[in-house]
Amino acid sequence: MSVSVRRAPAPGGSVEGRPTVLVIAGSDSSGGAGLARDLRTLFDLGARGLCAVTAVTAQSDRRITSVHHVPPALVRAQIEAAFETRAPDAIKIGMLGTRATVEAVAEALSAHATIPIVLDPVLAATSGGTLLDADGREALKITLLPRAALVTPNAPEAGVLLGEAPATDERALAAQAQRLLARGARAVLLKGGHAVGDEAVDWLALPGHAVERLAAPRLEAAQRGSGCALASAIAVQLGSGASLVEACRRAKAYVLKQLRSVAAEHVREH
Ligand code: PLP
Repeated sequence: MSVSVRRAPAPGGSVEGRPTVLVIAGSDSSGGAGLARDLRTLFDLGARGLCAVTAVTAQSDRRITSVHHVPPALVRAQIEAAFETRAPDAIKIGMLGTRATVEAVAEALSAHATIPIVLDPVLAATSGGTLLDADGREALKITLLPRAALVTPNAPEAGVLLGEAPATDERALAAQAQRLLARGARAVLLKGGHAVGDEAVDWLALPGHAVERLAAPRLEAAQRGSGCALASAIAVQLGSGASLVEACRRAKAYVLKQLRSVAAEHVREH
């Protein structure tokens, strides 16, 4: 007699159309950036969140006063426990801090090669404090950069990854986005928020395509953590099955809406 065995579905994945996103990031005590911002973005966009904390930072909007790096074995254990809870549809990686953590994360994710990763190469805070040391930067280029579905540097970060001066105009930004592809990234969204001009222009570079220009009005209310929110929002979109181009467009629209509401609040308060 043949018995047909129905396999139980793997735990997790999208629940009622809601994607699950695993966030691997550091916490920022100001609440503006890092893990708190990532999870808020997931919540805003209706995604389910899993998380692995890589570092605890004591920082205000003006400076970082202390950083505790979570032991790499514990970072790895958090990732494994997250997978045991529910298989994520996408992964967002933010602050990693040290080489050992970069390597632990790369190892923990090596068994999950099909899940899209959005890698925000967090190197330093806007206030200037270092968030990934020199050895970690090298390890990131070798291990996680080629693995990520998309890497989302700002202009200073792209400069560091390439060993070049940061680009200051649109043409140089677009060229650097393409050079990062040549260095092994699968896709690059180079954020031009740090450049000048009336528009915040990002460049999306995909292999075999012309670089795509994604522009939004530049708002006065520059807000810390916008890069974290953007990368998390892209991960939510990829987890929902959107294409890279569509995911970047929708995520940019979400961040713009956020910035506008902060700008309106600012006007009301002053
Ligand atoms: N602190 C943490 C823990 C972060 O993850 C990040 C960015 O990803 C930052 C600070 C930097 O934020 P900002 O550059 O907006 O200051």
